[in-house]
Amino acid sequence: MGYTRSLLTAARSIAIEEADLPGEIAPDHMRLRLATASICGTDMHYFRHFANAGFTLDYPVTLGHEACAYVEDANGHGFAAGALVAINPVIECGTCEKCRSGDINMCPDKRFPGSATTKPHIDGFFRNYFDFPARCCRTVSKGVDPDHLTFAEPLACAMHCVNRAGVDRQTKVLVTGCGPMGLLAVVGCRARGAQIHVTDLKQGAIDAARAVGASKGYVIGRDDLTELSNRYDVVIEASGSPHGYNQALDAARKQGVVAVLSLIQPTDVPINLHLNALKEITSTGSILFTREFDDAVDLIESGDVDFDSLVAGRFGVAETLAACELMASGEAVGKVLIKPSA
Ligand SMILES: [Zn+2]
Ligand SMILES: [Zn+2]
Repeated sequence: MGYTRSLLTAARSIAIEEADLPGEIAPDHMRLRLATASICGTDMHYFRHFANAGFTLDYPVTLGHEACAYVEDANGHGFAAGALVAINPVIECGTCEKCRSGDINMCPDKRFPGSATTKPHIDGFFRNYFDFPARCCRTVSKGVDPDHLTFAEPLACAMHCVNRAGVDRQTKVLVTGCGPMGLLAVVGCRARGAQIHVTDLKQGAIDAARAVGASKGYVIGRDDLTELSNRYDVVIEASGSPHGYNQALDAARKQGVVAVLSLIQPTDVPINLHLNALKEITSTGSILFTREFDDAVDLIESGDVDFDSLVAGRFGVAETLAACELMASGEAVGKVLIKPSA
């Protein structure tokens, strides 16, 4: 069966080609037709460098691990043909100690599409059709917009960080950085009833954060940030920048929590780790999610979140290069979506 796929062939180089799906679907897989996918910061690292966090791709790969799709062939797995499903891209081993305790994000043998850490690499979702394990798919109630459902995976990552930080309705939260992950952290904190402030370099990103639940925003370089010092129970670092991390250490109150949601890439900028000790800050890391994938799908199904205000643009699979260039430009506020055709 022929279909259109995008393929990252080198840094900043994406080929569009017609490919064939295998004649046979693997027994534990279903065949899926793309509804909507979205571009993640991780995809952008591969796009820019053909590598992420020190892991280089061995060969060209289709990017994309955030998507929802329609069931094309359920392959005997009990899903209705044509049903819209959310896709949890974490293919955990299911048998190790971490999997048995529910911490699938810590599974040493998990596999992940469009990633150099999985060998051999598994092609991701920026293509019109793909096969994926049926146990990773979840049906949703009728009427859910696929352009919202594609947020399930990144929202689950943000909600996992919110849970790790212990955010509840008493918590005063600062989110540093209002890229897609910061905006989804705001969504996750709002679902907990917390009071949320944000920082970003761009007024447009602050506006988007306010649209989904932040009560106040500070534009870095324009507003006075000194009033943020020692003020927040929890700071969620979502800028991925060492400056953002230093701001988080400054803004957390004594014995507060700094939760790191975005990967901070190695740089020469010094981190003020003495504040971590002097203020007895609890620093918590966060990667992927565990049960939060279901929580994220539930929140999307509820219709309570204005995901349309978090969409920066829509592109067809054949325009994946232009979609990635828009994300790489830094001009986009929110997520760039990829659809079967524009
Ligand atoms: Zn992602
Ligand atoms: Zn495992």
